[in-house]
Amino acid sequence: MTPLIAGNWKMNGTLADARSLAQEVLGGAQAGGFSCELLVCPPFVHLSAVGGALGEGAVRLGGQDCHTAAGGAHTGDVSATMLRDLGCGYVIVGHSERRADHGEDNALVRAKAEAALAAGLVPIVCVGETLDERIAGQALAVIGRQLKGSVPVGMAAERLVVAYEPVWAIGTGRTATPGDVAEVHAEVRRVLGGLVGESAAQVRILYGGSVKPDNAAELLAQENVNGALVGGASLKAADFLAIAGACS
Ligand code: PEP
Repeated sequence: MTPLIAGNWKMNGTLADARSLAQEVLGGAQAGGFSCELLVCPPFVHLSAVGGALGEGAVRLGGQDCHTAAGGAHTGDVSATMLRDLGCGYVIVGHSERRADHGEDNALVRAKAEAALAAGLVPIVCVGETLDERIAGQALAVIGRQLKGSVPVGMAAERLVVAYEPVWAIGTGRTATPGDVAEVHAEVRRVLGGLVGESAAQVRILYGGSVKPDNAAELLAQENVNGALVGGASLKAADFLAIAGACS
C-alpha cells in the first residue's frame, strides 16, 4: 500500500502564498523520489491556482470539505462535482474543526463522503476523540461510533481513506504516543472490517495531530499507519517534504 501524506492548509495564506507553497512542494516532490503519494488541500478559493501550479505532476490536489448535493441553491457551499472539475482527486470530510465549528454529525459526514464518491473523488473521512473522551477511556468507543456512522456502506475500499485525528492533538503540538496510535489504528481496521469486509485491509488509515518532521518517522512506522494528515507543518514546504521523506 502506498502511504499518503496529505497537507491540510486550512484557512491560511494569500493566493500568492498558496502558489509559491505549491511550487515549492512540487519542486521537492519531483526531486525527492518519495515512496509516498503527496496531496495538498488548499482553501477553495486557491484550488484553481494551486491546481495550475501543480499540473499533472507528482502532487495531488484535494478539497477540505464538500456539500452533499451535486449542485443547487446552497449559498456559500462547494460541491464534490465542482472539486472534481478543478482537478481534485480527494476531499477531506468530517474534520473535527467542521464537526465542532459547523455542527457536522456522522450522518452528514457520511452523506458528504457519498457525494464525494459519486463525483469520482476519494473521501478522507476523519474521526477522533476529544481529550475528555480519552480521559474517560472512551476513545475506541467514540471512534467506532464515528466510523459506523460516517463511512459509506458497501463501498470499494480502495476508494476510501480514513484519518484518525485525536482532537486534542490537532494544532496543539501534542501527539498521541506511538502506542496509542497503533492501538487506535488497529481498532479502526477492525471496525472497517465489519463495514467493508476483507477489503478493509486496503483502506489507508492516516494519523493526524501535530505531525512534524521530528516525530513523523516513528508515527509512520506504526502498524496500520498508512500515511499522515498534516496541518500546521504542511504550510512549510521543507517540513511537509521532510515528513514525506520519513515514509519508508
Ligand atoms: C489537521 O488539522 O488535520 C491537523 C492534523 O493539524 P496539525 O497537524 O496542525 O495538528
